[in-house]
Amino acid sequence: MREFRIAVLPGDGIGPEVMNEALKVLRILKDKDYTFQFHADMFLWNSEYYLQHGRMMPENGLDILKNYDAILFGAIGDPRVPDDISVWELIMPIRKRFCQYVNLRPVKKLKGIPEQFIHQERPINFVIVRENAEGEYSNSGGRIYQGTDQEIAVQNTIITRKGTERIARYAFQYAKKHGYQKVINATKSNAVVHSMKLWDEVIEHVASEYPDIQLEKYYIDALAAYFVQRPDTLQVIVASNLFGDILSDLGSALVGGLGISPSANINPEGVFPSMFEPVHGSAPDIAGKGKANPIAQIWSAALMLQSLGREDLASIILKAIEKVTEHGEKLTEDLGGNSTTAEMGEEIVRQIVKIMG
Ligand code: NAD
Ligand code: MN
Repeated sequence: MREFRIAVLPGDGIGPEVMNEALKVLRILKDKDYTFQFHADMFLWNSEYYLQHGRMMPENGLDILKNYDAILFGAIGDPRVPDDISVWELIMPIRKRFCQYVNLRPVKKLKGIPEQFIHQERPINFVIVRENAEGEYSNSGGRIYQGTDQEIAVQNTIITRKGTERIARYAFQYAKKHGYQKVINATKSNAVVHSMKLWDEVIEHVASEYPDIQLEKYYIDALAAYFVQRPDTLQVIVASNLFGDILSDLGSALVGGLGISPSANINPEGVFPSMFEPVHGSAPDIAGKGKANPIAQIWSAALMLQSLGREDLASIILKAIEKVTEHGEKLTEDLGGNSTTAEMGEEIVRQIVKIMG
C-alpha cells in the first residue's frame, strides 16, 4: 500500500488555524479507511522564520520539498514583512521550481450558504484554469530615472507557445474528464495585440484537437460582467496568470467568499510535487481569534487527494462540507454564523464519520 508523503506548510496568521482543521480531516480519513496512508511533515517556514533567519525558507528548502508527493500550504503574509518578500521568496519559488504551471480554482455554490453572501439563485459550478508560470507575473522589466519626472517602469508579459499550449491542453483535458461541454478563453487580444494574439492562436489550435468541446472566446472585461450576470453558464475557463488571478477572486465572491475558496498549483506530469492552498491570505485582521473559516483549506486538501488519485476521499470531504453548510448551524462569522474555526472543522469531521460509517 502506498503511503503518501505530504509536506505541510501552515504559514502565517490564520494559516496554522485552518491547517489544524485540514489535518483533522486527513487523520479521520486515515482512521476510517485503512487503504489511505499518509505521513505528514510540518515545516514552519513563515514570516517568523524570516525575521529570525533573514529568509523565508532554508537554502535547501526546495530540495527538501522535492521529495514529497504533495505540499499542503496554508497562507503567508505578516505586517512585519513586506508582502513581495513573502510571496516571491516562498510561494513563487515553489510554483516555479516545481513547474506548477496549472492553477486550478473550482467555483461551486454549496447548498445552504446564506443568501446575502451569494449573488445568484441559479446553480454555479465552474472551474478556472489559470496559467501559473509565466504571463504578466514575470520578473522581466525594470525602472529607470527613479524619483524623477522622467521615471519609467516597464513590466514585460511573457507568453510562450509551449506555455500556452500546455495550459490549453490541460483545460481541454479537464473539460473532457469532468464532463464539461465548453472551454472559455479569457483574452484581451483586441488591445494587448502581441502577447494575447499568440495566446489566442495557440488555444484555437489546441481546441481543434477536441472537436467534442466547444471553444468560446471573451474579452476579459466582458467576461467579468458575465461572471456577475450569468455565472451559471460558465464551465471551464482558461486564463493567463493575471486574468486568472482576478477572475478567481471574483468567482469566489459569487459563491460565498474567500473563506470557502480552494486552489491547486499543479505539475500535471507529476515530476514534481503539486501544492494545494486556499485562495485567501493570512487574514491578519482575524488571526488568533478562532474566526477563520476552515472550508477553503479543507477543500484544498480534497483537491490534493483528488490529484493523488483518491477521488473517492475527495468527494467524501466535499459531501461533508456541503452537509455542514446545508445544516447551517456551525457556520463561521464570514458566513453569518458564530461558530469557531475548530467547531466548524470538527463538524466536518463528524459528517465524514457519518458518511464513512
Ligand atoms: P486575505 O485573504 O488575507 O484577507 C482578505 C479578507 O478576507 C479579510 O477581511 C479576511 O479577514 C477575510 N478572510 C480571508 N480568509 C478568510 C477565512 N478563511 N475565513 C474568514 N475570513 C477570511 O487578503 P489580504 O488582507 O489582502 O492579505 C493579507 C495578507 O495575506 C497579506 O500579507 C497578503 O500578501 C497575504 N496573502 C497571501 C496569499 C497566499 O498565501 N497565497 C494570498 C493572498 C494574500
Ligand atoms: Mn489572488
